[in-house]
Amino acid sequence: MPLLLSDQLFAPQGTSCHGCERLLLPSESLLCHNCQTDLFRSRIPRPERIVRLDDDRVPAFSAYWYEGMARQMVLGLKYRHDVPAAALLSGAICTVFQETRPEGRWLATAVPAHPIRLLERGYNQAQLLAMGFCRMMDIPLEADLLRRIRFEDSQVHRDRKQRYRAMQGAFASTRPLHGENILLIDDVLTTGATVTACARELRKSGAGEILVLTVCRAEKW
Ligand SMILES: [Zn+2]
Repeated sequence: MPLLLSDQLFAPQGTSCHGCERLLLPSESLLCHNCQTDLFRSRIPRPERIVRLDDDRVPAFSAYWYEGMARQMVLGLKYRHDVPAAALLSGAICTVFQETRPEGRWLATAVPAHPIRLLERGYNQAQLLAMGFCRMMDIPLEADLLRRIRFEDSQVHRDRKQRYRAMQGAFASTRPLHGENILLIDDVLTTGATVTACARELRKSGAGEILVLTVCRAEKW
């Protein structure tokens, strides 16, 4: 399965736009010029790009607001099996990471998927994003550093406080860490409850610095 996904992720990108399905020109890749312009409009301006989670200890960077073409691409990756979209979205988090230029050596991991979603989808979209990111940045990926040990239903109807409470203790680290700096990758940052729960677990296991990277941010903080 991972090999197959990796092949899909870096396959030649096809001939139609992943945004509007119109035929691509030879100069276009994945998105047509109009959809690329749409995507560009959702970029989070640099000063607003960072939020701090878990009592200010964990910086979280996102590339786009969760709207317009950025949202459409993420939804395509999550629900329409648009695996090649992950390559483009991974590129966006690479740019953010490069602009951030955190010092030191980093090890990347992905937020584990809910097992039911994993079964429905056949893949974890956060892991695909992490695979693309790590390949482009030449950063080691340890995809199974975290696992999910408690399983709630959808978070959609919960408010921020309820989401934080629901995610407490939902993840476990799969090995002790020895001060490694961890990049935690996910598709969308909503309230931060999920990545905060992951970060706490990583810290408990001995992580050094933790930095969150997501493609989109759903809320204005
Ligand atoms: Zn298009």
